[in-house]
Amino acid sequence: TLFSELGLAEPLLKALESEGYTTPTPIQEQTIPHLLEGRDMLGLAQTGTGKTASFALPILQRLDQIKQRAMPKSTRVLVLTPTRELAVQVGQSFKTYGCHYRLRHALVFGGVGMVPQIKSMAGGVDILVATPGRLLDLMNQGAIRLDSVEVLVLDEADRMLDMGFILPIRKIVAAIPKSRQTVLFSATMPETIVGLADSVLHRPVKVEV
Ligand code: AMP
Repeated sequence: TLFSELGLAEPLLKALESEGYTTPTPIQEQTIPHLLEGRDMLGLAQTGTGKTASFALPILQRLDQIKQRAMPKSTRVLVLTPTRELAVQVGQSFKTYGCHYRLRHALVFGGVGMVPQIKSMAGGVDILVATPGRLLDLMNQGAIRLDSVEVLVLDEADRMLDMGFILPIRKIVAAIPKSRQTVLFSATMPETIVGLADSVLHRPVKVEV
């Protein structure tokens, strides 16, 4: 299978070509067509499988198709990650694959000053990658609103729960419209993840690699 056969648009195919990626990984093959259709997804996958591109590529395409501008202090796509390191990596992937689109990005994580993050969100962004604790702080300060989020991704959900983020995650999800598309990736599937998945996903496609 080629990336072009999965239904990806030319600007994404060009970006993939620049990266030297010609063949989708198994998770990308199974995930991309469903996410392009707007389905919810429950993915059981480890890092190194290409899972980031499997959600970043179709999300970028849908953002481009639905011509809309983010309102001030708001975002169209929210990706939650357990750590700063993963947030930086995921943010970089969106930038790399989305290099032929004009999209605004922001990153939000703890351990650094809030003011630059508040400023980066002020005009509204297309893609926000965030760790749950800092995001909740910024919401409580009124610096970020989630009432126009179209796509929510919970990446490495089991690690987020291990790190004690269940309450921030619940509060964040409650602030996002139910009409969203939701993607949850986890390397393991304990009961707590099954429960979280049941409450945040709507008729998800299930993928395992
Ligand atoms: P991930 O599982 O998302 O952390 O990705 C693991 C690594 O594989 C990253 O360095 C990606 O840039 C790379 N990668 C993702 N998709 C492909 C692909 N289709 N072909 C080759 N490498 C890829």
